[in-house]
Amino acid sequence: MSDVRVRIAPSPSGNLHVGTARTALFNYLYAKKVGGKFVLRIEDTDAERTSQAYIDNIFDSLKALGLNWDEGPDVGGPYGPYTQSERFDIYPKYIQILLEKGFAYECFCTPEELEAEKEEATKNKKAYVYSKKCENLNDIEKDRLRAEGRKPAIRFSVEKATKAFHNSSIIHFDDLVKGDLHQDTNLIGDFVIMKSNGAPTYNFAVVIDDMLMKISHIIRGEDHISNTFKQILIYEALGAEVPRFGHLGMILAPDRSKLSKRHGATAVSEFVEKGYLTDALINFVALLGWAPSDGNEIKTVDEIAQDFRINEVSSSNSIFEYDKLNWMNSQYIKKLDINDLKERLKPFLTKYDLSTMTDEQYTHMVEITRDPLTILSDITDAVSYFFGEDVEVDPEVQTTVLDTEVSQDVLKTFAEQAKDWEWTEENLHEKLEEFRGFYKEKGVKAKVTMWAIRAAVTGRTRGADMVGTLVILGKDKTLHRVAKAIK
Ligand code: GLU
Repeated sequence: MSDVRVRIAPSPSGNLHVGTARTALFNYLYAKKVGGKFVLRIEDTDAERTSQAYIDNIFDSLKALGLNWDEGPDVGGPYGPYTQSERFDIYPKYIQILLEKGFAYECFCTPEELEAEKEEATKNKKAYVYSKKCENLNDIEKDRLRAEGRKPAIRFSVEKATKAFHNSSIIHFDDLVKGDLHQDTNLIGDFVIMKSNGAPTYNFAVVIDDMLMKISHIIRGEDHISNTFKQILIYEALGAEVPRFGHLGMILAPDRSKLSKRHGATAVSEFVEKGYLTDALINFVALLGWAPSDGNEIKTVDEIAQDFRINEVSSSNSIFEYDKLNWMNSQYIKKLDINDLKERLKPFLTKYDLSTMTDEQYTHMVEITRDPLTILSDITDAVSYFFGEDVEVDPEVQTTVLDTEVSQDVLKTFAEQAKDWEWTEENLHEKLEEFRGFYKEKGVKAKVTMWAIRAAVTGRTRGADMVGTLVILGKDKTLHRVAKAIK
């Protein structure tokens, strides 16, 4: 068995974002390829922004995408609990170790004092770095501050850790995606690892959890690179093995700004509600940074896993092309088995009374309307004319098609003749063929003849196969609509 252990560690302050889905996927692929373990950890230390609904959404979305975790909050595992808020009593022990080793210290600065330091830095046009005012307080000074009622936060001593483990203030690591990355730790500043209320901060809790959960590879967004240098120092200060890190480029909207709600859906569940298939979505998300070696982009997660190499993942940003996702989704819809498709479409048909149709009619309707579907919700509009007695006619269709003399003539003839037709698919094919021929002899193009009938029956000039539509509607409804269209 492989020692590779990766994790996805979402903060439940929102529904699962497609960016997090991509990070989860790349971790999952990395683990699957070598038989490693994929761990889910919920980072809910920010109680105010956390909600159970978001936690449920994260679970459901990951499962829907097929990114099942080997260890996590609901399935457990040897290094749990896997929810940070249930791990609060674990962290103080490691704070103590850092204090004893001299890599951390108590900081009694008030928010006002810190604010004044920041303002001073801004005034001098300098990047803010904590003054380290509290680093060398003696016990008498600390007791005095405590007696004032001040509760200390704990800060990490960046300079001490750097000096203890590195020859220079510039520290490096070999990123799995980006190669050598470095940072001058003089610019980091002693950061808080535990707040005065005893809550661990992200950079500290994440190291303790990753260390205790034996995470070997940490793959995440490049917005975490500056955190990684801090985290490396904490691992070293604790005497722990430093995992390998890999940072992915960001996902940008087509206008190259940060992908956000104003561009369209961003949460996995929003895409699902709109009628994207999770198989298409995960396939698309994989292509945000990864490219198949054979050029064939349509692939299942298992197929992608075969071909996935983290060092070949692009280190630059990826553009979330909604158009490409739409195309991919349409390809996946085309491949769906008819019975599967019938079920998946039902949630988008709730405004219609499906009980007015037999299963055979429903199947037939789906067969003749499925082809142009980009997303499943397109079906709502695509089938509207199959329901109800009357049909809503598009105003432009009314004036440009139904109101013309030739259409009116076609419809009158149709009404007279069709009432005697046997209403079967085969016969309607034949009759319509004859009907078009009849008008052709009078100099009316076949498509003009058909437009008139289609417009009267569906209110539109384009739509599903005409004979199929007439069969599903039945003779009565068809003739009723044609009669209404005649002036
Ligand atoms: N909870 C952090 C986030 O959602 C995890 C970052 C990490 O992977 O370390 O950004």
